[in-house]
Amino acid sequence: MKIEELPRIPIGKLPTPLEKMTNLSKVTHIPHLYMKRDDLTDIGYGGNKIRKLEFLLADAREKGADIVMSTGGVQSNFTRQAAAFAAKVGMRSVCILLGKEPEDYRGNLLLEKLMGAELYFATAENLDEGAAVAAELMESLTAQFEKEGHICYPMPISGSTPMGNVGFTLGFLEFSSQMEDMNIDADHVVLATGSGGTLAGLLVGKMMTGSKATIMGIRVGYMFDPFRENVAQMANELSSFLDLDFTFSAKDIITFDEYIGEGYDIPTQSANEAIKLVARTEAIFLDPVYTGKAMAGLLGLVEQGAVPRDDTIVFWHTGGHPALFVGEELLGKEFMESLKSSP
Ligand SMILES: *Cc1c(COP(=O)(O)O)cnc(C)c1O
Repeated sequence: MKIEELPRIPIGKLPTPLEKMTNLSKVTHIPHLYMKRDDLTDIGYGGNKIRKLEFLLADAREKGADIVMSTGGVQSNFTRQAAAFAAKVGMRSVCILLGKEPEDYRGNLLLEKLMGAELYFATAENLDEGAAVAAELMESLTAQFEKEGHICYPMPISGSTPMGNVGFTLGFLEFSSQMEDMNIDADHVVLATGSGGTLAGLLVGKMMTGSKATIMGIRVGYMFDPFRENVAQMANELSSFLDLDFTFSAKDIITFDEYIGEGYDIPTQSANEAIKLVARTEAIFLDPVYTGKAMAGLLGLVEQGAVPRDDTIVFWHTGGHPALFVGEELLGKEFMESLKSSP
């Protein structure tokens, strides 16, 4: 299938800006630093999943679905963006959230409720085990809704299917033409990677354009292992889905585990410092779960010399702002105290 022939609901605010980070460059002494603003894709606060949902929900609509089902953590950006997209195109949205229902609905959870999503909580020890619990719940809910005459469109965590990930292949093509207009040529693209779908989509796009950029995924949790193998497989599936003959193996996938800290959605000091730095220099917000850790990774890799300081480096902002408004639980008590007591 050719990309142009895929069904698509093109309502994301695209292309997203590609901006030079002038102030952040000065304080970090990284002279050629840019940001791809996928936090600005719009539709219910935006983020990277909007690119995936443009294709996933078009596929859902073609299949006659009237209920879209998504799954993720309690503060999932994916389920919130799925709920937003569904609201926008007039479908029912069911979110299956892995974790305990909190007393206070904040951040993504609050937004989901405001947008009329139907929430189900599935308790599990961790995201990997949760994926199995969620899959079961999704199956039984699907059976129930179908008995009532509905057609469901279930999506896996992060919407990482070839149909979703293709959004980032197009994202890379968009980025590539922006670079041409701006007369720059990225040496490195750095982004937060969770399930790896975004990374896989970008890698296929990179191969299509012949870009020289190394694409570096900063991991944010110890899940979806063996990770590089899984990302290579997703990129291979996407490539054959598009009738392209690129092949990837684990050694083609560049990822870093060093910025995860203790685990998924557990704050790290370096991420919190990165959030503060970018807010104070550029008035751009990162989030504690994904993009804060990814920016800590970018800065750390330059500091260590693993990424040459004078190279052209692009930070791909994948969104996630609403997690900031969860506050202490995701930023940590110590950091919140330090914000209050220091300038
Ligand atoms: C989901 C998400 C990611 C990770 O995307 P994957 O395709 O699952 O790797 C990164 N950043 C933010 C803010 C996200 O919400």
